[in-house]
Amino acid sequence: MIKIRNIQKSFGDIEVLKNIGLDVEEGEVVSIIGSSGSGKSTFLRCINYLEKADGGSIEIDNSRVGFNRADKKEISFLRNNTAMVFQSFALFNNKTAEENIMEGLRSVKKINKELAKEKAIELLEKVNLKDRSSHYPSQLSGGQQQRVGIARAIAMEPKLLLLDEPTSALDPELVGEVLNLIREIAAENRTMLIVTHEIEFALKISDRIIFMKDGKIEYSGTPTEIMFSKNESLNKFLKTFKE
Ligand code: ADP
Ligand code: MG
Repeated sequence: MIKIRNIQKSFGDIEVLKNIGLDVEEGEVVSIIGSSGSGKSTFLRCINYLEKADGGSIEIDNSRVGFNRADKKEISFLRNNTAMVFQSFALFNNKTAEENIMEGLRSVKKINKELAKEKAIELLEKVNLKDRSSHYPSQLSGGQQQRVGIARAIAMEPKLLLLDEPTSALDPELVGEVLNLIREIAAENRTMLIVTHEIEFALKISDRIIFMKDGKIEYSGTPTEIMFSKNESLNKFLKTFKE
């Protein structure tokens, strides 16, 4: 079980995360929904230490890290155990698909070149891009780039996989291929937190859905509970997707 406790984060005078906490069971798929600006990305970024939280902690495998006083070793522990899939893919443009996947295996996991390459090829096969291994991001469609992004993240075998609106930068016709891949990896007993505006999708794949509002968890429940919730803010938010 992963325990996230009391994350606080301000940018200047603006308090963006107000004591957010969450327990995630092993193998659990938790989706995070909420309006733009409610703090969803910041929440994931703090977990991955891309952003330094002002307070709060995370416990993975009984090791607890306090975000605001994490030392080098603890930061490396977080990077080793969490991996992020970004809305904008965030691939290295000067590296091929294969090299993008190898990068974290080499620099974070310290795996030798041959093994890293082997693993990259295996993962490219998994995401159906074996024939694109030596292509650069600019030579790939958005959907293909994101599938490389997902392969790169799962290559790290993270204890917690974080996905931040993985399909919102894609042309509509490319969304399906990426959602299908996410659905596939969600079924593999991975522990994941996924921020998404694909509500129907979230209802289908999630064990639990968190609704964030103004830097707090406003409502949390199973997909069924979310659908039938009487929470006013949540219903107002869901309604905007039904039009
Ligand atoms: P969401 O992902 O839910 O749309 P974000 O976490 O991106 O929300 O942003 C939450 C709030 O924090 C917003 O008001 C945003 O403008 C602010 N914010 C996010 N990142 C920064 C930053 N690096 N510097 C200043 N303000 C930021
Ligand atoms: Mg965001």
